[in-house]
Amino acid sequence: MILSKQKTWEEILGYLEKDKSVFILGCNGCAQASGTGGPKEVAEMKGKLEGAGKKVTGTSVVDFLCEKALVKSRLRGQIEPIKAADSILVMTCGVGVQAVAASINKVCHPACDTVNLGGSRGEWMGSERCMECGECVLEYTGGICPFTACTKGLVSGQCGGANKGKCEFNPERDCGWELIYNRVKALNQLDKLRIFIAPRDYRKRMPDVQTMATSHWALERTGPERTGEKEKVK
Ligand code: SF4
Ligand code: SF4
Repeated sequence: MILSKQKTWEEILGYLEKDKSVFILGCNGCAQASGTGGPKEVAEMKGKLEGAGKKVTGTSVVDFLCEKALVKSRLRGQIEPIKAADSILVMTCGVGVQAVAASINKVCHPACDTVNLGGSRGEWMGSERCMECGECVLEYTGGICPFTACTKGLVSGQCGGANKGKCEFNPERDCGWELIYNRVKALNQLDKLRIFIAPRDYRKRMPDVQTMATSHWALERTGPERTGEKEKVK
């Protein structure tokens, strides 16, 4: 389970400033359980965006946005409304936004921040990873997480050590910032790399008191993976 919370309306509207039309994508998995991206929240967001003068070309709620094959198959029937939109607003966790951005050649805006539950995992294990930083920056990085794609977790660009597209620490591993650069360039969004990303509020890397009082937290903390008791489970 990945817990998310919706970004502020002002932040979401800011992301969509240059877009006249948008397609909204929700997730019936963790985002629905979090109350941030299920059918109800997608319908509410559609109404708010239309009220703000945006054309919503279509909406879809996929069972697990962290599963790229599912995303592709479900969106095959939505090609026209997606094509008609300037961008996609993705109402789910950081893993889901990255999986969608990797599946569709379209600008994807994150509508949520991923709340820290002390670790990271998607319901569907793919190559996309989220460190639950609490302040999602996928808007500025072409939908690729700099914290997990870059070995050093740099948020402000490449370190300069990459060689032929590979990370200086591991020649088997692609340089995360080259991936980000190439994705942003392909989306004609290079200006996004000029936007200053403010220093992180590292307090958001820790769950807050309200989160720790929820059943989400209790369930995550008592799972065998979290308590180190995995070997004991038969
Ligand atoms: S920026 Fe990365 S770590 Fe932070 S919420 Fe987004 S995907 Fe997760
Ligand atoms: S080479 Fe690329 S992935 Fe490796 S630490 Fe530097 S910027 Fe990050």
